[in-house]
Amino acid sequence: MTTFNGILLDKTETGFSARVSAIEESRLPADGDVTVAIEYSTINYKDGLAIANKSPVVRKWPMVAGIDGAGIVDVSTNAQWKPGDKVILNGHGVGESHWGCLAQKAKLKGDWLVPLPAELSTLQAMAIGTAGYTAMLAVISLAKHGVTPGQGEILVTGASGGVGSIAITLLAARGYNIVASTGRLNETEYLKSLGATSVMDRNELSAPGKPLQKERWAGVVDSVGSHTLANAIAQCKYNATVAACGLAQGMDLSTSVAAFILRGVTLAGIDSVYASKPRRLEAWKCLVQELDRAKLDQITSVVKLSEAIAQAPAILAGQVRGRMVVDVNA
Ligand code: NDP
Repeated sequence: MTTFNGILLDKTETGFSARVSAIEESRLPADGDVTVAIEYSTINYKDGLAIANKSPVVRKWPMVAGIDGAGIVDVSTNAQWKPGDKVILNGHGVGESHWGCLAQKAKLKGDWLVPLPAELSTLQAMAIGTAGYTAMLAVISLAKHGVTPGQGEILVTGASGGVGSIAITLLAARGYNIVASTGRLNETEYLKSLGATSVMDRNELSAPGKPLQKERWAGVVDSVGSHTLANAIAQCKYNATVAACGLAQGMDLSTSVAAFILRGVTLAGIDSVYASKPRRLEAWKCLVQELDRAKLDQITSVVKLSEAIAQAPAILAGQVRGRMVVDVNA
């Protein structure tokens, strides 16, 4: 009997459990066609929700956690991949409805995988992870909607988190003038070292506000939602674009059409989970070309698989700075 270690989530009559377990390989999902020896995974906000059982992320029990993985193809019956290929998996319902990558082995669909760029290690790919790839999608979206560095300030909310930290780094590399909104003002030097021009207290945005406020932002990358997103929209300049990708404050959005019909503001939704392969490949190509890897190292910490479960409440409490990689073999 061959087994691998993974974070197994289960819900039975006795309740919810999350533990590192030795899992038989024969239990890997039958509908996968590529078995990957995972080297690194990561803890995103969504992994935190799943592992802490805080919202209905997991739709099938038992579930191996982990929405992201990077590793080496072990066995493949998919013509696109052969043993030895280095691959990345982000999203596609993995860790939600299909067994995930916080494990030494994952059996995935070949169509979901993208090749690991030659310039990146599997550790760096997971330091980027869904958070970084989503940040890239958001930055690409601002550019596609015509937001250029000359137009004014860009607001990044949830700035000290994974999406926020990488969005700041990417926007700075493109020459934007960034205002970082954070609840952790003690991280001001960190945020400035990533490229933020200035830092604001997130309390300025977190309470209900008027639907039209003083114009300030040429663009916004928002990973927070709720009143923060509503206020960001209300403070947009004429023709600004808001890339909305998260819900760290809440899933609600109470606003009016005023900013859209009076200021031509665009609310651009960002979904990484089911983004098409061409969009994924474009994002990863831009990440390779534009993301400062010294800064990526600076924002990344690495934990062992056995330590990952304890990080779930920490990320939900906004206590994780930057990105947290999981070495699934340690
Ligand atoms: P992190 O926990 O790393 O970052 C979230 C940040 O939001 C925190 O660090 C904190 O930043 C801020 N925050 C936390 N709680 C609150 C609150 N109550 N009010 C205001 N701000 C708060 O998570 P990720 O960066 O991994 O993900 C960020 C969000 O984006 C999550 O909601 C996640 O689900 C979503 N997401 C969506 C994706 C998509 O495809 N659309 C893909 C990836 C992520 P600070 O301390 O600086 O204020």
